[in-house]
Amino acid sequence: MARIVMKFGGTSVADLERIRNAAARVMRAVEAGDEVAVVVSAMAGATNQLVDWCHELSPLYDAREYDAVVATGEQVTVGLFAIALQTLGVEARSWTGWQIPVSTDGQHGKARIMAIDGAELIRRMQAGQVPVIAGFQGLGPDKRITTLGRGGSDTSAVAVAAAIRADRCDIYTDVDGVYTTDPRLVSKARKLSHITYEEMLELASVGAKVLQTRSVELAMKERVRVQVLSSFTDTPGTLVVDEDEIVEQEIVAGIAYSRDEAKLTVRRVPDRPGVAAAVFGPLAENGINVDMIVQNVSEDGTTDMTFTLNKTELPRARAVLEAMRGEIGYADLAADSDVAKISVVGVGMRSHAGVAGTMFKALAGRGINIQVISTSEIKVSVLIAAEYTELAVRALHTAYGLDVA
Ligand code: ADP
Ligand code: ASP
Ligand code: MG
Repeated sequence: MARIVMKFGGTSVADLERIRNAAARVMRAVEAGDEVAVVVSAMAGATNQLVDWCHELSPLYDAREYDAVVATGEQVTVGLFAIALQTLGVEARSWTGWQIPVSTDGQHGKARIMAIDGAELIRRMQAGQVPVIAGFQGLGPDKRITTLGRGGSDTSAVAVAAAIRADRCDIYTDVDGVYTTDPRLVSKARKLSHITYEEMLELASVGAKVLQTRSVELAMKERVRVQVLSSFTDTPGTLVVDEDEIVEQEIVAGIAYSRDEAKLTVRRVPDRPGVAAAVFGPLAENGINVDMIVQNVSEDGTTDMTFTLNKTELPRARAVLEAMRGEIGYADLAADSDVAKISVVGVGMRSHAGVAGTMFKALAGRGINIQVISTSEIKVSVLIAAEYTELAVRALHTAYGLDVA
């Protein structure tokens, strides 16, 4: 007997048929004697629709109300899932974020989980009931509904697993594991039987949507065993593990891409001490995260400062910088949303030189221009024109010898 969390993503609960199938999977685990807590996402497409409605009404929407809207998707699925389980004769009860509660900080739209009291969930599970928990949502310090950022149900699942001291957190999705790159983009992508927490964390943070970054961070910290597997087949999935559990380590574990970022250039800012602080300070104060940063060489006392940020934060970033224009003293702002960030990740980079060189050469060979570069200990990222995303990922996948035979 094991205590497990089974998390089902949007495509796995996209319609009633799929909810029935997922519920049957839970039933089989319960029949096998496992104690199961279920975490679900909104039905596929539901959250996108809710997000679009908010944006359509106002690009500078109130984040508290955005959360009130987008959290509703998961409330539908917990109820439906509980009904589906009950129909199969499994005792089940739905739980929204505030009912547990999943306590978060007050950063609406991208809140962090602070605490989950698992006692009541454990009590119910021991009494034979399956809790069906709404992913993605929590309760902020001001008692308002919060959400955890896109893909946040993964983080809910891992946090619940930690809170109820589960033996395993199984993330059921529409692919049967973590691949060397997005298998929907590259048919030669290879499934990994294991991946290290560190590599998974880095891949997620640069765009591999299969797990939300924070879920990996939390799993690493709380020592939760995470498995990614398909809700449609019974093939073995991918286990996220410590580095010493991997037998043969490749230099590059995988390649990720993100089309979620935009490039913003602040043109002709005075080139003097304090100007970076003047630009990035107000953005940080407004909760806007910036990613890659480059500053051009100075010409006649001014310079261009370019950085990337999440596309959805572009209107807010523009508003913040426009309000500061007098103080910063720049000429104008230029935004480009047609960009993609391509990243190569692997712990082997620590001990092997030449990974970045291989990347630049492969891209040059395809005539792809690199706009911005950034690196970390186990990652190299480049920003390119979005139209070359597929070409670049495929070329790199081949260049690092990752293609399936
Ligand atoms: P869910 O709705 O189940 O949470 P997501 O769409 O969030 O599913 O995540 C699964 C998707 O992640 C896959 O359909 C796949 O296109 C994408 N993906 C990106 N990179 C990878 C990767 N390296 N391995 C597997 N899937 C990946
Ligand atoms: N429904 C939310 C989203 O689409 C959370 C999730 O699916 O993990 O982002
Ligand atoms: Mg997801």
